[in-house]
Amino acid sequence: MSETLRTQVGIIGAGPAGLFLARLLHLNGIESVIVETHTRQYIESRVRAGVLEQGTVDLMAEMGVGDRLKREGMAHEGVGFCFNRRRHRINFKELTGRSITVYAQHEVIIDLVASRLASGGPLLFEAEAMKLEGLDGTAKSKPAIHFRHQGEEKQVVCDFVAGCDGFHGIARAAVPAGMLKAYTRIYPFGWLGILAAAPPSNNELIYANHESGFALLSMRTPEISRLYIQVDPDDDIANWPDDRIWEQLRRRLAFDGFKLNEGPVLQKGITPMRSFMAEPMQWGRLFLAGDSAHIVPPTGAKGLNLAVADVQVLSRGLAEYYASRKTDLLDRYSDICLRHAWNAQRFSWWLTQLLHRPPGDADFDCRRQVAELEYMVQSRAASMAFAENYVGLPLRMD
Ligand SMILES: Cc1cc2nc3c(=O)[nH]c(=O)nc-3n(C[C@H](O)[C@H](O)[C@H](O)COP(=O)(O)OP(=O)(O)OC[C@H]3O[C@@H](n4cnc5c(N)ncnc54)[C@H](O)[C@@H]3O)c2cc1C
Repeated sequence: MSETLRTQVGIIGAGPAGLFLARLLHLNGIESVIVETHTRQYIESRVRAGVLEQGTVDLMAEMGVGDRLKREGMAHEGVGFCFNRRRHRINFKELTGRSITVYAQHEVIIDLVASRLASGGPLLFEAEAMKLEGLDGTAKSKPAIHFRHQGEEKQVVCDFVAGCDGFHGIARAAVPAGMLKAYTRIYPFGWLGILAAAPPSNNELIYANHESGFALLSMRTPEISRLYIQVDPDDDIANWPDDRIWEQLRRRLAFDGFKLNEGPVLQKGITPMRSFMAEPMQWGRLFLAGDSAHIVPPTGAKGLNLAVADVQVLSRGLAEYYASRKTDLLDRYSDICLRHAWNAQRFSWWLTQLLHRPPGDADFDCRRQVAELEYMVQSRAASMAFAENYVGLPLRMD
């Protein structure tokens, strides 16, 4: 007989969605088991997002996992745009009263894993979910996650399954054919990202629109820069020796008085860009959250924040269910999350098409981009529209 664990909510994936959800459920007295396919060391060192909306920062503090973030996170009250060799600043704080915080995603994971383990909540590493059962909510059998762990087949039997297993996970694929509609856009460019042992050259992010292509200056700590350039999504990283990357960064981020700090490249890779939405985000007793339901291009820095928004809604719905057996909020989970995610998708698409050099003969588009950037930095209304989207629109649960 294979080992069976029993819990209220079975969570697949210990990324931001799964770990935030487990913490929020714990604070509401709801039990969960997390199965994660990778090792702890792997998920705690995977370099990904770095921009947290204020809502995400505030939530970490409320959840009691925000102490290190408060000490080490870098609060940014504005962001720079570089085009036509000049830099312009948009001041979030002045326009919206809010700001963003730069704190690497893997640091968020470290904090959440530590709190999960300290609370005694089950978090199984090297536990790969293979198959889901009993999801339709009508069958006599309860939902179950079948997984492989320490060479054995095991299962988690639960009331609900949270599919927090990212874009390539198994949860979305477990929904019967024809029940989900997918919306996809593949972009004709990718991001070559490096992590460099060089102090950030600016104290805030700088987004650049340049005739050679997009570039982004970002950071992870006061000693480590995170830098990106637009490349062909099918390009091979072997074509990009460090010198060539730095040359392109110097060129694309050039404006009067700016000097790019350089240092050893610690990591580099090319990521293709896509938009993806799966509708609805619920089927029976299965709830999809985070990248398993939607992918946004990274330009708007929304992916992690959207995962957090989803699980805030889900945890409240589950808390309502366990307190009163009411399913009002759970029934609206998909609609609430999709409305919020489509807004982030719209913003991320808009910023992406504004900043990236379109392939081919696109002189018209390039001039149009610059005209729009000029309008955005000069008009208070346009600056405000950018700023309120970038710091994060409120999550409406009505
Ligand atoms: C280069 C890059 C830069 C980015 N920059 C930003 C940014 O600045 N700001 C921002 O907000 N977002 C950014 N993002 C997006 C952000 O990283 C993701 O949106 C976020 O990680 C989504 O969290 P998640 O928990 O939904 O999924 P994931 O982080 O993908 O976590 C899913 C987890 O499920 C596990 N898993 C998968 N399948 C199984 C299985 N069968 N069984 C068990 N476990 C499984 C995986 O190992 C993983 O740990 C960026 C992404 C990339 C790639």
